[in-house]
Amino acid sequence: MNDIEIAQAVSTILSKFTKATPDTAPAAVPATSDAARVESLDDIVAKALAQQTSGRAACASSPVANAGTGAFETMDEAISAAVLAQVQYRHCSMQDRTSFINGIRDIFLQEEVLCAISRMAVDETGMGNYEDKLIKNRVAALKTPGLEDLATRAITGDGGLTLIEYSAFGVIGSITPTTNPTETIINNSISMLAAGNTVVFSPHPRSRKVSLYAVELINNKLAELGAPANMVVTVTKPSIDNTNAMINDPRINMLVATGGPAIVKTVMSSGKKAIGAGAGNPPAVVDETADIEKAARDIIKGCSFDNNLPCVAEKEVIVVNQVADYLIHCMKKSGAYLLCDKKLIQQLQTLVLNEKGTGPNTGFVGKDARYILQQLGITVGDDIKVILIETEKTHPFVVHELMMPVLPVVRVDNVDEAIELAVKVEHGNRHTAIMHSTNVEKLTKMARLIQTTIFVKNGPSYAGIGVGGEGHATFTIAGPTGEGLTSARAFARHRRCVMVEALNIR
Ligand code: NAD
Repeated sequence: MNDIEIAQAVSTILSKFTKATPDTAPAAVPATSDAARVESLDDIVAKALAQQTSGRAACASSPVANAGTGAFETMDEAISAAVLAQVQYRHCSMQDRTSFINGIRDIFLQEEVLCAISRMAVDETGMGNYEDKLIKNRVAALKTPGLEDLATRAITGDGGLTLIEYSAFGVIGSITPTTNPTETIINNSISMLAAGNTVVFSPHPRSRKVSLYAVELINNKLAELGAPANMVVTVTKPSIDNTNAMINDPRINMLVATGGPAIVKTVMSSGKKAIGAGAGNPPAVVDETADIEKAARDIIKGCSFDNNLPCVAEKEVIVVNQVADYLIHCMKKSGAYLLCDKKLIQQLQTLVLNEKGTGPNTGFVGKDARYILQQLGITVGDDIKVILIETEKTHPFVVHELMMPVLPVVRVDNVDEAIELAVKVEHGNRHTAIMHSTNVEKLTKMARLIQTTIFVKNGPSYAGIGVGGEGHATFTIAGPTGEGLTSARAFARHRRCVMVEALNIR
């Protein structure tokens, strides 16, 4: 690092303290005088400078000294630590980066760790199911791309050689959801660190314990590998206030929000580079050319995966009349319970929707079908995975993203009508759609009209995030901002490095 870079790092650290930030300082922080704050900053800067002078030693430092939980009392402290880690991380080699990424994969691929975090997530949030969380956590650790995602481009000619390199943004603030708490932390940590960034996580308060545990596991492993301390940090008490403090902190170079519409809108209005991975309401269309038995099996598997928590999971079925009865019959054989009684359907509606009927009642999000039916006085076995209801196309179950295995089925006259309705109920989220058909023309028509980031044909929705289907895994699907299925390159700056009239060897 040269003097200019050091000066820039120091000035970035100091810049926050040139602005008054009364509303971002959490009330719980003991009051410190300005002098004390500057003194502690001086310490940070001095540490950074000392480590710069020792060159590569800043990367491969003492494992014991670096061990820590990565969780800080205040957002301010968490960000300061991630800033220092970022300065140090720039001194690490590509080989170091690879070893850190592999280390993160290794911890979460240990069977006992996978079991522990999957169990903790279900117990803490009261959502989803253990077996599917195991699959999701495993795929996040295994199939999130690492450094190989950052392929340099070269342009050569008479003018010389130009390289386009993927380079770090700096410190990323990542806001994570309650529905995939550890999956997102594993996935984002691998992608963001691979691109050379450090990360401050602001998890959902309802998945606090398991998120902090995942961050601690990462910190312990990175310390063991001699990485700079605090490359992945968080706060001990995640809250909306802390998230807002992070969003507004000038030392955060990029924001990534994985969650519902409110948080995506907030980061997109922040004035910073932001990646928004927002809500979906994926329709599954079935036409008369589909393999109906397979379509039924796939829909039930996709819809019930982690009790319908994934943003990609089938949220409504739109079926051509001609095959509707047979599809429902096959879905029943594959683990669906068809609820026909009008009174019970009304009761279910009151139970699982919020008071205004504009979305789900949080208490039922991610619950299993058996539990939901029990609340209606219906007892079923473990084989029942999904509750089916035939509805009108305007029913709230169709229109709103429920994130529970309550699956409305709407009949339409033909496939064109099915596609039209699918586009409508997807609401322009550009998230995910599923179609079961062997008619290539209609499959193409739906893909063109619906414009979703993920379009799964003849399979369960989760094939779109690397579970079963080809392609890498991600738990941050950025439809609103267009990065799509994020990986390391989404979290990198594109930089051009030009050698004039030389190094062209053609
Ligand atoms: P949520 O929007 O309630 O919370 C997500 C995160 O944002 C949490 O950390 C929460 O604390 C924070 N947050 C929410 N509103 C905020 C506000 N006004 N100010 C500051 N912080 C705020 O979502 P959730 O229930 O955790 O997750 C489910 C939602 O996320 C669904 O809509 C789902 O489709 C979506 N999701 C999308 C993706 C994707 O990749 N596109 C992945 C997972 C979940």
